[in-house]
Amino acid sequence: MLAANTSAAKGFVWLLGAGPGAADLITLRGLRVLQAAEAVVYDELANDELLKHCPVGCAFHAVGKRAGHHSATQAEINALLVSLAGAGRKVVRLKGGDPLVFGRAGEEIEALRTAGLPFEIVPGVTAATASAAVAGLPLTHRDFSSAVVFVTGHQCAANTSALDWGALAKLRATLCFYMGVRRLPEIAHNLLAHGMPAGMPLALICEATLPTQRIVLTTLGEAEKISADQIGQPALVVIGEVVRLADFAKEIPTLHTQVTK
Ligand code: SAH
Repeated sequence: MLAANTSAAKGFVWLLGAGPGAADLITLRGLRVLQAAEAVVYDELANDELLKHCPVGCAFHAVGKRAGHHSATQAEINALLVSLAGAGRKVVRLKGGDPLVFGRAGEEIEALRTAGLPFEIVPGVTAATASAAVAGLPLTHRDFSSAVVFVTGHQCAANTSALDWGALAKLRATLCFYMGVRRLPEIAHNLLAHGMPAGMPLALICEATLPTQRIVLTTLGEAEKISADQIGQPALVVIGEVVRLADFAKEIPTLHTQVTK
């Protein structure tokens, strides 16, 4: 039973993970929530096909940057959620991947709590696990990697980085950089400067789970020279020994081993 049944009068918000791209990678609970939606507020990373599951009469609010449209500010999105749910609607806030991983869910949760509005978080398949799956690489492995780190590539500029590059370089973990493609040269530079070997394997996985998906296997040393235009977006950067276990990994370090599945 959906939680909103108990609080329908007040409205309800589901922060729903749409998954990484393929429309059938949403959870069964997520599908049920969409089928009950009266309003959907969705991001550019969520697959539009999912909206077909919503009932007739459901209102759609695009708040992402797709097709050159104005993208709403976080404050505008928060206000929209509060106003829709405050008016008694069953609202789905549909986000790419998982709402709690680089999804600004924290800010929306705070706004809903402040407004006294009930909500539920429905997890989704995040880009890191989806990308690992399509590349055939395990994020953890008993012999190579005992930890996985989800890192934002937004804070990688060499001088102003908020990240502890020394710790990241020495952790012997699998590093998954979200929003990192544009910063790839800086990411590589920072990790190399902190002692990570140039031969460390690195995977770039673009548009994972979509028909356009591309996988590039290379090394940290070579990645310093790769520009974002060569890769495309959205893409995830995975760095670590486990990348050796990826499909086609024996071709490392051939630069730009481009694989379309
Ligand atoms: N909440 C999302 C992440 C949002 S941040 C999640 O859990 O996946 C946006 C970043 O996610 C992109 O810059 C990219 O690094 C990554 N990403 C999203 N979809 C992706 C996909 N299909 N393939 C590869 N990376 C993806």
